[in-house]
Amino acid sequence: MRLFDTHVHLDQEEFDEDRQAVIAAAAEVGVAGMVAVGITAESSTAGIQLAKEHASIHAAVGIHPNYAAQADQGDWECVVQMAASGDAVALGETGLDRYWDYTPFDIQQDYFDRHLRLMQATGLPIVIHSRDCDADLMPMLREARERGPLQGIMHSFASTQEIAEEGLSLGLHISFSGMVTYKKNDDLRAVAASIPDDKILIETDSPYLSPEPHRGKRNEPANVLHTAARLAEVRGMSLDDFTEQTTRNAIALFDLAG
Ligand SMILES: [Zn+2]
Repeated sequence: MRLFDTHVHLDQEEFDEDRQAVIAAAAEVGVAGMVAVGITAESSTAGIQLAKEHASIHAAVGIHPNYAAQADQGDWECVVQMAASGDAVALGETGLDRYWDYTPFDIQQDYFDRHLRLMQATGLPIVIHSRDCDADLMPMLREARERGPLQGIMHSFASTQEIAEEGLSLGLHISFSGMVTYKKNDDLRAVAASIPDDKILIETDSPYLSPEPHRGKRNEPANVLHTAARLAEVRGMSLDDFTEQTTRNAIALFDLAG
């Protein structure tokens, strides 16, 4: 069995004590690939470094909406350069966030728009974060789609069937995190059951959003197995078939060998 965790923050300090052991534990359960997702220019650079050190790790570069207020022009230029370097497989994470509200909203929209345009200029897929923001996010996606094709991921999807369907129709993949294992999330599991086989992805968002039975603890990529098992059950597939399908989907989207 091989698994692909499409969203990890392995550069973060939560992993400073045992990063190598965490990567080894992921390999042990069959995690063949993961994407280290940047939240600042600095963390994007760290992700590229991890990708150089580990064959299983690939890097996404970008500036998270919650960190956009602190970013300067040099940070953005650094992201653009990394995107052009061939060292990154995706852009992000980017998007909009009204929940934490760390960054003035017009700055969030400006940075999301920059990432969308860079996606279309480079052909790299985009990793999209949306927290309490669908009404603001979807019009920006529609506008971008009018300019050209979209490719990327609605990451840690937690919204409605309607939003999932529109995301799919715009050309995006839908990725599910440990949230689909939480007891109260029957509606989210119903959405997950409806996603076409070739458009569904899995992720941990480590160190956040640990799936059951590890909820509340630090998350790590090995735990993607729990999310995969719950999703396979919900979709009426064997775990082997589901993990192989989602791994192939990730390999195709990120344009990797294998
Ligand atoms: Zn993230």
